[in-house]
Amino acid sequence: MNNSTNWPAWLPLRDLLKPMSPYGAPQVPTSAQLNTNENPFAPSKALVAAITKRVAEVSATLNRYPDRDAIALRAGLAKYISGQTGVAFDLSNLWAANGSNEIIQSIFLAFGRESALGFTPSYSMHPLIAKVTSVDWLDGKRRDDHSLDVAAAVQQVLAAKPTLTFITTPNNPTGSVVKISEITELAKAAAAVGGLLVVDEAYAEFSSETSAATLIAQYPSVIVIRTMSKAFAFAGARLGYLIADERVIDALQLVRLPYHLSAITQAVAEVALSFSDELLAGVDSLIAQREIVQTGLAKLGLSITPSAANFLLFSGFNQPANQLWQKLLDRGILIRDVGLLGQLRVTIGTAAENQAFLSALAQVLAEGDQ
Ligand SMILES: *Cc1c(COP(=O)(O)O)cnc(C)c1O
Repeated sequence: MNNSTNWPAWLPLRDLLKPMSPYGAPQVPTSAQLNTNENPFAPSKALVAAITKRVAEVSATLNRYPDRDAIALRAGLAKYISGQTGVAFDLSNLWAANGSNEIIQSIFLAFGRESALGFTPSYSMHPLIAKVTSVDWLDGKRRDDHSLDVAAAVQQVLAAKPTLTFITTPNNPTGSVVKISEITELAKAAAAVGGLLVVDEAYAEFSSETSAATLIAQYPSVIVIRTMSKAFAFAGARLGYLIADERVIDALQLVRLPYHLSAITQAVAEVALSFSDELLAGVDSLIAQREIVQTGLAKLGLSITPSAANFLLFSGFNQPANQLWQKLLDRGILIRDVGLLGQLRVTIGTAAENQAFLSALAQVLAEGDQ
């Protein structure tokens, strides 16, 4: 794969892209794939059958473009989110795209007027998409333990006056939650500087904290991003969405590509919504498994950041993170080196995968001590 050193001179690549590398979480077949926060539970037979039936129906119309406005899907998402949050939304408050990464890109294309601020460490795609859309990214500061000092964050917003302020809650890669009262403070600050507060709630269904979507009626500059990729166990279908004031949705139409969401994607996501109870049934067991993995890590003498998501960030091992990561991979266990000194992130898998991870880790740590 290409890197900064060998782009040919004839290739008129934008200068800012030249030193960059493509997003590339390793996709290698292993016995336990615990690196991208996917949901380990495959679709049920009933869901597979329902999807297959709908795809067969839609296939007969593939000579036509899909519904550009994804009306049925957005109405379904509005109903789902209204049920989740207890606040009434309709399709005018919803937008959907091919994964929440496309949602994030659309936000930058529409609103990336000046700078964007986020608090590191957080989701690496926020700064990456800022960069490729030529928006200045400002690395906001957290406390040393990665928790968010909200008063300091508010000051950073007021000082930098970003057009976009990003908050991920539960945060990736830490799993920690920003309370709704704190989100409210940040919403006020973002509005005061004429910006938008973008709350990435990719892991919201794993957390009991109130959604920032409940703030939109009062603070129309709050945008909430969700995805079917994590709790919803539907990463392969590529469906992300956002909840916002109607005028935010109107503005996003200016940058969406025509017919961006295929008829197949829309149909399949609609079917998934009708199976939402079943798809979300795994959430409780993943939370229970998270507690088991956390206890297991603590027994190995490791430190764990308290998580309200389907992954854990841990530290306290006395070898470089990339070496430990490789030794686990050699044993068929793929976790994530998120680039934080002395820390690794593990996604919660099935009970068997989690046990395989813990016993491989115990072996690797024991060898390291010899
Ligand atoms: C996984 C993740 C996403 C997801 O993206 P999709 O494109 O919807 O699969 C978005 N935000 C955060 C914080 C994530 O961890």
